Amino acid sequence: MIKPENLLRPTPEGLYCPPGDFFIDPIRPVERALITHGHADHARPGSGKVLATRQTLDIMALRYGENFARERQAVGWGEALRIGDVTVSFHPAGHVLGSAQIAVAHKGLRIVASGDYKRRVDPTCLPFEPVPCDVFITEATFALPVFRHPDTAAEIGKLLFSLQHFPERAHLVGAYALGKAQRVIKHLREAGYDAPIYIHGALKTLCAYYQDQGVDLGRLRPATVEGGKKTDFAGAVIVGPPSAFADKWARRFPDPVASFASGWMRVRQRARQRGVELPLIISDHCDWDELTETVAELAPSQLWVTHGREEALVRWCELRQLSAKPLHLVGYEDEAE
Ligand SMILES: [Zn+2]
Repeated sequence: MIKPENLLRPTPEGLYCPPGDFFIDPIRPVERALITHGHADHARPGSGKVLATRQTLDIMALRYGENFARERQAVGWGEALRIGDVTVSFHPAGHVLGSAQIAVAHKGLRIVASGDYKRRVDPTCLPFEPVPCDVFITEATFALPVFRHPDTAAEIGKLLFSLQHFPERAHLVGAYALGKAQRVIKHLREAGYDAPIYIHGALKTLCAYYQDQGVDLGRLRPATVEGGKKTDFAGAVIVGPPSAFADKWARRFPDPVASFASGWMRVRQRARQRGVELPLIISDHCDWDELTETVAELAPSQLWVTHGREEALVRWCELRQLSAKPLHLVGYEDEAE
């Protein structure tokens, strides 16, 4: 069996596979890139050949234009592809639509690079699939015992409760444009909320794509009604990217309730700093329990930990005699979650 470090290793461009001569989620343009999912810190434009799921390729084209790569190739779920001397396959990561873990196998050794992932139910994408492996590469965005995401339906319930009690106020929900926004909308629909939901222009294309892929988001309306009155939005839910809430756009709404859907809303100080009145702890990443349960379930011979709070998870493994190390990859933000 070859050494894991000879199959995948961190480089300044990202994770590199020497026997396959490709990178996973490179942070700079490279000749051949395998992409786990469409978030901007993982999927960057300008590479030569890009291999990803059909949905991730579509999302990259929507965000960067059709020329985001010289060549693209779509891979089906679980389909084994040969690249150089290695076999790769893509498996659902449960993070956003199209998101994949990438399994890389060579000479009897299998490493799974999970990208970003979560374990709890997300009605907008396929659930995480545990893939047996020798080395599991995990994210560590919320890898501290203090991070325990509450029940999603209960968080959505807080928003519905506020809508009931403040029917004259607009409810502005900040949510990232890929994944979180559609998930919040879908959860609202599942909770029985069937009024039109207003969306910021920056969400339009991706919401339409989700609908096109069979994720029914119900009636969506632009939150940019020209010539409309402020009172038109009384009691309405308006979803927009977090950046939009700081600018003039947000001031068109009547006495808005500022809400924000993010795993970071667990940290009260972050909610206060952003002026968030109604924090919703809804995350597309694993919390501490999901991370440790996943590691226990997969029981890899080695755990490699990246982007986030690596130390706590490495320590947790050490206490259980599991081999673990931080990877020190750079360029992946934990803000955009
Ligand atoms: Zn992501």
